[in-house]
Amino acid sequence: MKKILALALCSASLSMYAQHGLEKDIAAIESKVIEWRHDIHQNPELSNREFKTAEKIAEHLESLGIEVQTGVAHTGVVGILKGNKPGKVVALRADIDALPVTERNDLPFKSEVKSDYLGQEVGVMHACGHDTHIAILMGTAEILAKNKDKIRGTVKFIFQPAEEGAPPGEEGGAELMVKEGVLDNPKVDAIYGLHIGSYLPVGQIAYKPRGAMAAAQRFVVSIKGKQSHGSAPWSGVDPIYVAAKIIDGFQSIISREMELTKEAAVITVGKISGGVRNNIIPESAELVGTIRTLDYDMQEKLNARMKEMAANIAKAYRAEATVDIAKGTLITYNDPALTEASIGSLKEVAGDENVNLVNATTGAEDFSFYQKEVPGFFFILGGKDPNAGPDEHYPHHTPDFKIDDSGMLLGVKAMTNIALDFLDRK
Ligand SMILES: [Zn+2]
Ligand SMILES: [Zn+2]
Repeated sequence: MKKILALALCSASLSMYAQHGLEKDIAAIESKVIEWRHDIHQNPELSNREFKTAEKIAEHLESLGIEVQTGVAHTGVVGILKGNKPGKVVALRADIDALPVTERNDLPFKSEVKSDYLGQEVGVMHACGHDTHIAILMGTAEILAKNKDKIRGTVKFIFQPAEEGAPPGEEGGAELMVKEGVLDNPKVDAIYGLHIGSYLPVGQIAYKPRGAMAAAQRFVVSIKGKQSHGSAPWSGVDPIYVAAKIIDGFQSIISREMELTKEAAVITVGKISGGVRNNIIPESAELVGTIRTLDYDMQEKLNARMKEMAANIAKAYRAEATVDIAKGTLITYNDPALTEASIGSLKEVAGDENVNLVNATTGAEDFSFYQKEVPGFFFILGGKDPNAGPDEHYPHHTPDFKIDDSGMLLGVKAMTNIALDFLDRK
């Protein structure tokens, strides 16, 4: 009953989606999307090493008669689908890389893959859900290719490598794709992307206009001391001790100097290294971490204070420290006009009550590099098992990270509808 009413309302809004009966095609594709996702989940590949993943995507797009470019930004795949009617160009983006995480889930399609990461053997897992993004966009491409006659303009499918960051010393991700001209020929008028969320129940969509996700910057602190015997610290300068003081100092920038009522800010030291054995005070130590900001003024202040603080703390203890901060990703900025114009397309497929405005997050997305060039809208798609309890959710980037297959169909619907509606708008 409710469904009939919803359908009636849909056709009243004259969306391409309801008008042309794409719902049947979309429902029929769910089993394929799930199958693709399981295959990709079981065969994850690290950033800039997505060779087999890219091959599978390219093969699929080619089978649909879509014009395909491979090797974009190393392993990226771009598909161009020209509709039968002239019009604008809309891009849909999926990121395709996995993470150096060893999966702990007991799934029939669990990843057992191991790989080399910076000289270390690591487990590899789609612990951020990019496997679902690939499957959703492959499904969307199939629906749209089948309904080419209904497309007013061109759809560009961007399968992007290395969203999690290229290995040190390599370029990659959205920034490199933009540099290699992914938004040109034909020139993209707007871009859409989604991220699955393990915390958001299946069936829901969350969004925020303007600053939605944080800018992320990788930093390295190099501390130089003076090597000595572990039994005689007075004859050297201990960089390990200084490292501890610097970590402490950095957290005081957040808690004492950032105006946290304005926007959130985070400094995390994720790696600390130095030394070879118990009784040697080493010559140097290194801290590696990430900075998250949602406001460019706060970012500038925070960066400057980290440099000052590390150098001065080191100096106080007779050591030297330098801080190297990478430019990093930008703030994921949802164009307000595009966001507003696109919400209706999401509500139509998810239901009004399931599309909700949320707070910004300190997670980062290199989707921000596309949004710097063209208006873009990035939203979160629910992936949490509908039967799971309220506290039962497994965070992204962890060995227990879990996404329920039943969330993906809404992703296909959302991407299809949002693209067709965009092309249909004047
Ligand atoms: Zn991630
Ligand atoms: Zn991700």
